[in-house]
Amino acid sequence: MTALTLTAENGIAVLTLDLPGEPVNTLGAAVKEELEAALSRLKEDGTVRAVVIISGKPDTFIAGADIHEFTRLSTMEQFESLSREGQEMLQRVEDFPKPVVAAIHGACVGGGLELALACHYRICTDHPKTSLGLPEIQLGLIPGAGGCQRLPRLIGLRAALDIILAGKSERGSKAYRLGITDELVPKSILRRTALQAADRLAREGLPHRKPRGGLMGWLLERNPAGRRVVYAMAKKQVLARTGGHYPAPLAAIQAVWAGTEWGGSTGYAVEHKKFGEVAATDVSRKLIQIFFATTALKKDDGVPAGSARARPVARLGVIGSGFMGAGIAGTAVSQAEVDVRLRDTEWPRVASGLSAATAILRGRLQRRRITRFQFERQAALLSGSTDYSGFGRTDLVIEAVFEDLDVKQQVLRDVEAATGPDTIFATNTSTIPIEQIAAPARRPERVIGMHFFSPVDRMPLLEVIPTAQTSAETIVTVVHFGRKLGKNVIVVKDRPGFWVNRILSPYLNEAGRLLGEGTPIDVLDRIMVRYGFPVGPITLLDEVGLDVAAKAGGVLHRAYGARLEPAATMTKLLEDKRLGRKNGRGFYLYHKGQKTSPDETVYDLLGVRPAKTIDHATVERRLIYAMLNEAALAEADGVLRSPRDGDLGAIFGFGFPPFLGGPFRLMDDLGASRVVETLNELAGRFGERFKPAPRLVEMAASGGKFYPRT
Ligand code: NAD
Repeated sequence: MTALTLTAENGIAVLTLDLPGEPVNTLGAAVKEELEAALSRLKEDGTVRAVVIISGKPDTFIAGADIHEFTRLSTMEQFESLSREGQEMLQRVEDFPKPVVAAIHGACVGGGLELALACHYRICTDHPKTSLGLPEIQLGLIPGAGGCQRLPRLIGLRAALDIILAGKSERGSKAYRLGITDELVPKSILRRTALQAADRLAREGLPHRKPRGGLMGWLLERNPAGRRVVYAMAKKQVLARTGGHYPAPLAAIQAVWAGTEWGGSTGYAVEHKKFGEVAATDVSRKLIQIFFATTALKKDDGVPAGSARARPVARLGVIGSGFMGAGIAGTAVSQAEVDVRLRDTEWPRVASGLSAATAILRGRLQRRRITRFQFERQAALLSGSTDYSGFGRTDLVIEAVFEDLDVKQQVLRDVEAATGPDTIFATNTSTIPIEQIAAPARRPERVIGMHFFSPVDRMPLLEVIPTAQTSAETIVTVVHFGRKLGKNVIVVKDRPGFWVNRILSPYLNEAGRLLGEGTPIDVLDRIMVRYGFPVGPITLLDEVGLDVAAKAGGVLHRAYGARLEPAATMTKLLEDKRLGRKNGRGFYLYHKGQKTSPDETVYDLLGVRPAKTIDHATVERRLIYAMLNEAALAEADGVLRSPRDGDLGAIFGFGFPPFLGGPFRLMDDLGASRVVETLNELAGRFGERFKPAPRLVEMAASGGKFYPRT
């Protein structure tokens, strides 16, 4: 393999990295060897005055380490050596006696940025595809090739911790502002600028960089007492965010700390030791599995490979400009830059939908995700109407009208009449079988479910639900379009609740029952947050809306029987006109839309007194096992195409704790016999609804697993 090509211009060697046959460059063992060999040759070559490292790929500099190589290692010692070798190699780059310039366009992340940081000078492009960052934390790792040492030295402690601990990537312009790169240039002159910089550095020597951060930097970073404050704050924030479930951010703080307090060599030693420790944890293994699963999902169109091709979607129609419709419209213009026509029954509603969609764009502008120019261009893609004008040329129409079968069927008829023969009709229903909505369709092969989650612009999951008549082309088209909207798309079967609501339902029902038994609102939520969920079940109910949850709960109860009977709690709250956050009255109190504290009057309403002593372990088990059992039942029901889809759906749909890998990974880890045993015990104490799924019983007997053994 030759990934590197060497050319020389006027005494400047240009090393171009272009991994053959791969869409992006990664730093695997072979590339590292080649780079080392090239640098040793260039060191001795008297005609070479400086070196430029650049990528031959269109949109990546280096996308990080080769994670596949990782999966072949397992022990702490192996990971530690990998990190140490990486550090040593990059130290040789830093110690290289001639200037080395990194010319960065596209993704420069993980090991890629660590390489760039070891170079003497960095230039990046201002292109939107350029991003620089250290995402290791997201895989349960820490930057292990000197990143925890060099980044703080370059941009200051707080800015570096901010990037390392969040696993963030920054656009080129921000990276330049932070001081990660020395120059910011348009793509067209990257190479030329890098050659000029290399020539200049060879003649004039390396640049002297002043410490960054102004007075605050001096107060907080350039004296030990100030740094103690910074580290204490960082640790506190990490613990608040991770609940202590993720060891990597704390390990990263230690590696950075060792460098700033004890000096370079100790810093590197702690860094590779900590890298070895975290890389060998089960948490990291789970996060890497999720990474691979997500990558595989991006290539899975939901139909047998090659059976159909996606049609382009350039014009989108959205019917119903309420909460979901506006969210879909705003997400579509911002992510896919397609023309969106939004329709509702009355002008004021159309107007409020358009303004809610524009607010999504404005939010992105304020967070500097888009420029003012992009904002104007995207906002101009939105238009609205109270009739079907402008729908004739739409490629896809998504309806988000009231959750009512008759209304939805009428909308389907109207859309079919107003659009061309190839237009796809997608429904965002959360509870009505797609098949029923499709019943009056003249073109049933073009009808499908697209179940978005709220808020649409922020939730990363989309469930796509074909009926038995939906064509493969329709499936592939909406899967591709969903991906363009930035979603992880799973294709699931048209069964009540689809996947996410189906497994959420018994979990929320159980939470309702526990409340009815006197488990305090905040205690219930705290137990599940401690378990690893982003919010507890009661907060989730308030967020989703009690009316919405009750409606879905009722549908699932009718479909699956007593097992999914909703708790009486919900009816009592709804009778008291409590809808959750949206009307400021739910299980919690709200002040200006912000949750404050549990609403104690809920207990009177339910006729219970909050219990003083709570068996936390039992509460946790009742909630989790209700969900796990339903997951096994749904899987046997053919709702999912694979356990992978189910795990990703739970993680992206409602924040199932990623360090557990998802419900199926969790059951595989526990072992079916243990799951069955616990369910039997819960069934004995709390009722038949915990009766283990036949699939689990059978797996317990055969020693089977959801995922094939590797
Ligand atoms: P909403 O009440 O906020 O909006 C519905 C809109 O549809 C209203 O503006 C209404 O005027 C409009 N409408 C009704 N009939 C119409 C017609 N014939 N033509 C054009 N417009 C019409 O409701 P929502 O929360 O946005 O939900 C919409 C759909 O999305 C429902 O099917 C719901 O089940 C589904 N959904 C909701 C959520 C959620 O969290 N709210 C999540 C997933 C799916």
